[in-house]
This record gives sequence, C-alpha cells and structure tokens, in this order.
Amino acid sequence: MRLRLLAGDTIWPEYASKKTPMTTPLEIPCSHCQALNRVPATRLDDRPLCGRCKAPLFTGQPVALGEHDFAAVALRGDIPVLVDFWAAWCGPCRMFAPVFAATAAGLEPHVRFVKLDTEAAPGVAARFAIRSIPSLVLLHQGREIARQAGAIDGSSLRQWLARHLAAR
Ligand code: ZN
Repeated sequence: MRLRLLAGDTIWPEYASKKTPMTTPLEIPCSHCQALNRVPATRLDDRPLCGRCKAPLFTGQPVALGEHDFAAVALRGDIPVLVDFWAAWCGPCRMFAPVFAATAAGLEPHVRFVKLDTEAAPGVAARFAIRSIPSLVLLHQGREIARQAGAIDGSSLRQWLARHLAAR
C-alpha cells in the first residue's frame, strides 16, 4: 500500500481502514485496570472508555508502565504499541521526551505510546535486551516488529512508524 508520509495524521485513518475491517472489534487493554476492552474500529476515534473502570482508553499522552502492568497493557490487544525505554539520568532521553509526547498526541488512538523507566522496571528492560537508552520498540499483539536505538526527530519518528506499520 502507499502511504502519504508527509500528510500528517491523514495516514492513520487510511492505514486503519485498509488493515482492519471496520466491523471487527478491536481488543484494547485499559492502562489503568488492565481490563481487555472490545471496541468497534468505527468507534476508535470517539474517545472510548474502559468498560470496567470508566477511564479513557487513550488520553493522547504516553502512559507510564512498570514491571507489574507492562505485559498486560503493552503485550496484548490489537493497537500497535510504541515503547520508549528511558531513565531520568539520561540527558538524550529527557530531550527526546517532548518529541515522543507530541507524536503521541498526533497518533493515539491508532498507536499506543508507553514510557518504560529502565531504572524502575529493570526486568522489562532486560527482557527486551535494552543496551542503550533511549531505545524505541514497536510492538503489535505481543510481537516486536521494529526497534530504534537513540533519539530521532518527530518527522523521522512518524516516517519510521508508518514504514514499519505498513510492512508488518
Ligand atoms: Zn479500566
């Protein structure tokens, strides 16, 4: 499929409509209570709430996960998940954080954005064999589909995501 890489957010509805039959419910884990919700693809942009705890399933902001909720939220469901492995002592990580947040604001709910503090959750970082930070790992349905070591600018990040999501 062709992606209009410079067309901003318009690539995402196009991507969603071609990859997902609109009648098929999407499974989306709640980042607050980890309940697995089923949301019709046609309702994804209607600010869906968790059926159990009523929290918004997406806020347009990255969610911080740790050892206890990473697997339940980041490794399940039908929405691609981009994880930013970072640490507070890492200067490049702090510089990259606003880029990651701004990209989340533009692309959620079509991609979920997750922050993983490698100091607070070393087990998750070890499981992914993270050797340098920041590192970005793109997941879908529990499977790693791409990885980027080092910070990149927002435009490059969007193009990187579009390329790997189209190829998966
Ligand atoms: Zn919930």
